[in-house]
Amino acid sequence: MKVFIETFGCQVNEYDSERILYYLEKEGYKETKIIEKSDIIILNTCTIRENANNKLYGHIGNLKKLKEKTPGLLICIGGCTAQSLKEKLIYDFPIIDIVFGTHNISELPELIKRKNLEKKSICSVPKEGFDYDLDKFIRTSSFRASIPVTIGCNNFCSYCIVPYVRGKEISIEPAKIVRSIKKLIADGVIEITLLGQNVNSYGQDLNSSIDFAGLLDEVSDITGLRRLKFMTSHPKDFSPKIINTIKNKKNIGNHIHLPIQSGSNKILKVMNRKYSREDYLKTINLIRKEIPDCSITTDIIVGFPGESKEDFQETIDIIKKIRFNRAFTFIYSPRNGTKASMLKDSTPQYIKKKFFSELLETQNKISAETNKEFIDKKFEVVVECKSTKKASFLRGRLANNTLVNFNGPDLLYGKIVTVKIIGSMNFFLLGEIVK
Ligand code: SF4
Repeated sequence: MKVFIETFGCQVNEYDSERILYYLEKEGYKETKIIEKSDIIILNTCTIRENANNKLYGHIGNLKKLKEKTPGLLICIGGCTAQSLKEKLIYDFPIIDIVFGTHNISELPELIKRKNLEKKSICSVPKEGFDYDLDKFIRTSSFRASIPVTIGCNNFCSYCIVPYVRGKEISIEPAKIVRSIKKLIADGVIEITLLGQNVNSYGQDLNSSIDFAGLLDEVSDITGLRRLKFMTSHPKDFSPKIINTIKNKKNIGNHIHLPIQSGSNKILKVMNRKYSREDYLKTINLIRKEIPDCSITTDIIVGFPGESKEDFQETIDIIKKIRFNRAFTFIYSPRNGTKASMLKDSTPQYIKKKFFSELLETQNKISAETNKEFIDKKFEVVVECKSTKKASFLRGRLANNTLVNFNGPDLLYGKIVTVKIIGSMNFFLLGEIVK
């Protein structure tokens, strides 16, 4: 029996897909990358933006023909959209056989057996019950892995559906995290990413004094771990102690992704982000002082309800002041059930698009300039995969998370090489191997 898994959205979902595969392989299923050859199709969904939901609906609609001509084919929907829409998905798309949530991935084999017996569609989406055994996943990479350190989120940013979908924040015991990472390293992994919606608040619910800086410190001491990354941070919890730990530990990547979302205090307040532009600038100044070569990336939302031209210009102003290496930019889209979706939004779409273009143009120029600063310098690079830029090229990543393309043989996958930067574009670098 073959299973085809398609993952939408963030790294947490990618990890969940690796867990789905673990539980199905245990039952004898094998993964296939060819959808037409599968007996089970699993869509592990994302609901962060309206656009993601629309894409999913199109996708499910497209599966109708395949379902009709493949007797016994099961279509299962998991992830955040399943967690949020539940039975409604089956109501809207009767071709769906199973809807399962983010907390009960371990239950999936049982649901499949039940579906085959009962013949009617099943929806099982509990609010809790996550299986905290971190070893239960099938790694898709031989040299890197992601490990969740927190599940859920307590922040309730007014535009975000995640806390409603993934539930309250729960930190995983440090001993479990360390044990699991040691096993991965013994198995050949050199790079670990610690995952969570807000990793910086790690430990607040644990019965111990450990915080995220303490966890970073403990994990970075594991012998054989060459590169340690983490994702995602929240500016309100990004402490000087974390900055100090990154500074002092050689194997922690000099990259911080710190979503600012807006440069206007008025908008930050309505977003319920719990920091001001002044607080954010203070954190950035400290990062730059303590770790001068740290790359800083961010997320920005434009067109939030009530955002005036002046508010938007404050965002442009802070981008120019900070000079982020990269920014992931989005036009606001309301999510049903969030506080922001109930706010009056009188800004016309064409104005939002104008804001968005100006933002993109400003940031792209800065990214191109910051990338040029790497030229003629040498960096350690983890070789990730074949490059899409040229047949003989490989793609790798600097410790500061910048992508670099360079000539080299496939046998270097998963190895660390020294690369000299010889050119730069907006979103990546060009290099040549020197060692
Ligand atoms: S920190 Fe805010 S944006 Fe991030 S997952 Fe939590 S509520 Fe959503």
